[in-house]
Amino acid sequence: MKIPFNRPFVTGKETGYIKEVIESGETGGDGAYTKKCNEFFRKKYGFQNVFLTTSCTDALEMAAILIDIKEGDEVIIPSYTFVSTANAFILRGAKIVFADSCINHPNLDVTGISRLITKRTKAIVPVHYAGVSCQMEEILELASEHGLYVIEDAAQAIDSYYYGKPLGSLGNLAAFSFHESKNVVCGEGGMLVVNDEKFLERAEIIREKGTNRSKFFRGEIDKYGWVDLGSSFLLSDVLAAYLFAQCEQMEKNQAKRVLLWNHYFRLLKNLEDEGKVGLPVLPGFSTNNAHIFYIVCRNLTERQELIKLLKRNNISTAFHYLALHKSRYFGDKHDSRVLENADRYTDCLLRLPLYYDLELSSVERVCDIIKDFYSR
Ligand SMILES: *Cc1c(COP(=O)(O)O)cnc(C)c1O
Repeated sequence: MKIPFNRPFVTGKETGYIKEVIESGETGGDGAYTKKCNEFFRKKYGFQNVFLTTSCTDALEMAAILIDIKEGDEVIIPSYTFVSTANAFILRGAKIVFADSCINHPNLDVTGISRLITKRTKAIVPVHYAGVSCQMEEILELASEHGLYVIEDAAQAIDSYYYGKPLGSLGNLAAFSFHESKNVVCGEGGMLVVNDEKFLERAEIIREKGTNRSKFFRGEIDKYGWVDLGSSFLLSDVLAAYLFAQCEQMEKNQAKRVLLWNHYFRLLKNLEDEGKVGLPVLPGFSTNNAHIFYIVCRNLTERQELIKLLKRNNISTAFHYLALHKSRYFGDKHDSRVLENADRYTDCLLRLPLYYDLELSSVERVCDIIKDFYSR
């Protein structure tokens, strides 16, 4: 039997809700299901100002416009992340300064950040890799000391907490993803959370192509027009209906993911104790939303051989980011700093299948093959 790497969670309610939206004739953005999603996130996480977007990439682009990124502004982001974290700011003319990951975690290493701050630095963008929180207290302290914005790339971080506070509630702005590869999905979709109220009015305008259309629909003005920069960042209510079905059953989905994650961890713990693989580290300040289960192999060759062996056994796995500072696009723009941890995760990190429909017995099969590989 094949074990795919991912299968998006399906509750069974999605198609009914989507049909309802189509039959209502109101399929554009900010409709009835968008409001239900907003209310869900407000109640569950206390997010007061939520903007559903077409993707997390777009939510990050909105953030870059909101903090007025201009040519020459510097933004600090980890090199071990998805391209969107960087693109959003580069599109507005920023210079990206890449930070290394921690030695024991792909998240950015805060001890190295203060050296990267200059007079031109405008923002720090922590990425909560695998839904595990970055060291937010240290990051927020540095930001307030130097007058910088903090934008959380919380693409993977739904339903995870830092010292009891939901991820996405800590920075000035935060971006989430509902892409099919994430825990909560709607095909393609995202969300901008605005925690700093000064961005509220503009966020609404930027998402509506630079117009004050939202104000018009609330009856606050009698015609709407072009008032600022903007783009088409608004999520269709068809997809919001899909998303709401997922939100309603999030706890069930999350509980299963955590169960599977813990099963992997228990079964592979011996290999870690023997020094053969690294397992995910969960710092005491963070919860685990079980977005990714990964192992860290000792080197690239070993990882590639393990991928091949698993593939021969019909199990799909995936490595993850190719550190952005060495990418074809950015390689010649990076200063010469060596980012050894980002490089190591590029070569050695391997993600194992993890999704709602996965069976505990499948986790056991995957782990048996890995253990077999390391006992040769
Ligand atoms: C998935 C992901 C994104 C992009 O999300 P989209 O919704 O596909 O645009 C951005 N950053 C990180 C860290 C991600 O994992």
